[in-house]
Amino acid sequence: MVQQSEHTSESVTAAVQLQKNFFRTGQTKSIDYRKRMLQALADQVRKNEKEICYALKLDLNKSETEAFVTEIGFLLEEIKFTLKHLDKWMKPEKVKTVKTHIGSKGIRVAEPYGVTLIIAPWNYPFQLQLAPLIGAIAAGNTAILKPSELTPHTSALLSQLIQDTFDPAYVSVLEGGVQTTSILLDQPFDYIFFTGSVPVGKIVMEAAAKRLIPITLELGGKSPCIVDKTANMELAAKRIVFGKLINAGQTCIAPDYLFLHTKIKETFIEELKKVIVDFYGDNAVENEEFTKIVNARHFHRLKEYLSDGTVLFGGQSDENKLKINPTLIIPQDLSSPLMTEEIFGPILPILEYDHIQEVIDFINSRPKPLALYLFTNRDEVEKQVTESTSFGGGCINDTLMHIATPYLPFGGVGESGIGTYHGEASFQTFSHFKSVLKQTNRFDFSFRYPNAENGLKMMKKLMK
Ligand code: NAD
Repeated sequence: MVQQSEHTSESVTAAVQLQKNFFRTGQTKSIDYRKRMLQALADQVRKNEKEICYALKLDLNKSETEAFVTEIGFLLEEIKFTLKHLDKWMKPEKVKTVKTHIGSKGIRVAEPYGVTLIIAPWNYPFQLQLAPLIGAIAAGNTAILKPSELTPHTSALLSQLIQDTFDPAYVSVLEGGVQTTSILLDQPFDYIFFTGSVPVGKIVMEAAAKRLIPITLELGGKSPCIVDKTANMELAAKRIVFGKLINAGQTCIAPDYLFLHTKIKETFIEELKKVIVDFYGDNAVENEEFTKIVNARHFHRLKEYLSDGTVLFGGQSDENKLKINPTLIIPQDLSSPLMTEEIFGPILPILEYDHIQEVIDFINSRPKPLALYLFTNRDEVEKQVTESTSFGGGCINDTLMHIATPYLPFGGVGESGIGTYHGEASFQTFSHFKSVLKQTNRFDFSFRYPNAENGLKMMKKLMK
């Protein structure tokens, strides 16, 4: 086990001050600097692919394929996309003026906030730390990164890679747990980007409120997945099992629970079982490629859910390996922890419905989810569900894939989060858009001044 020590108030203050001084030099703002730094980050990630996979294997038993697709490849794609579009995003935008402003010009200029703090969780510990950093760099900020203490090998590697790539006056890593994060949250940052749970999101927002620091909160919750009777059963089962079991269900946008139409319930459950065995074998616990649960606390938390319903499939586990078999379960009670807490593991509760309105009413009676998935071949059902529920983002006839395109901003709504990122949304999140009006001196509308004759009359004509 890699040992982490907590930072003191003095060391945290010094790290922030170092970046404040550097930001004031203005070096981080040039387009050339931003591009060079993004390139340096991509080079470092590429060069250390093996080490990254190894750290993720130790922390979470992630397979090399999962590690590459969801952590390394994801970041490389995001950097490539940002480098390709950054000139366009940074260009000041000319905007129209109104009649009262004839002769003047309006522009919106993107400027960096300054020194930013990026706090990451443990489930995709490499990617979720660096994806926001891409936005912070692209927008011209400096950044202090705080990885999760629950994935210590990845945290130590991040610290090393960032040290090898950047001057700490520009980007640095402060490792640690609650103590370090609490000290960080007491610093005069210019922006805070937090990914993690709802309860800690509230702590972050409260701390930011004290200094009026703008924030992004990427949180979690229970994401519903609906299978209509017209869905393509085979594809739906594959795509749901893929989305639920990647990273052993420890994914913020994993389908948390299923709503199956009564007519297809039994056949679909059989299809799900078939796909699980196809993907992971009869006993996933023994499958070397199957991700483990991050620690004993989460392992036992997940095992508790198994007593909240009737297990239809799976349910076996191995405490030494911290692994739980993919499990299908019918909940006993909708107010049990299984149906009120975010599961964040390979356990999939199944509910059934006759009319889609029942599902809509259920979703609307709960906190707004981070993701929603609907499998259907009926346009009217798609329209009804997407128009009458609120959720961060989601897919029709798929799971997770909306997160993997930089053209779609990613984020939550209500309890599942505030703000978005990925692609241009990351650049916008880490930028303040400064509005500037450049007035002409060639003429002057004197009717706006207090001594003007007919001033009010003119104003009334112009401002209707
Ligand atoms: P967490 O909230 O426990 O921890 C996140 C970070 O906050 C860690 O770096 C941790 O050190 C720090 N932290 C923990 N307790 C703290 C405290 N009391 N005060 C200050 N800082 C504290 O979350 P987690 O368990 O690491 O991650 C799982 C959660 O994150 C799930 O709810 C999941 O849905 C969510 N998540 C969301 C996204 C997203 O993009 N929306 C992505 C991944 C995970």
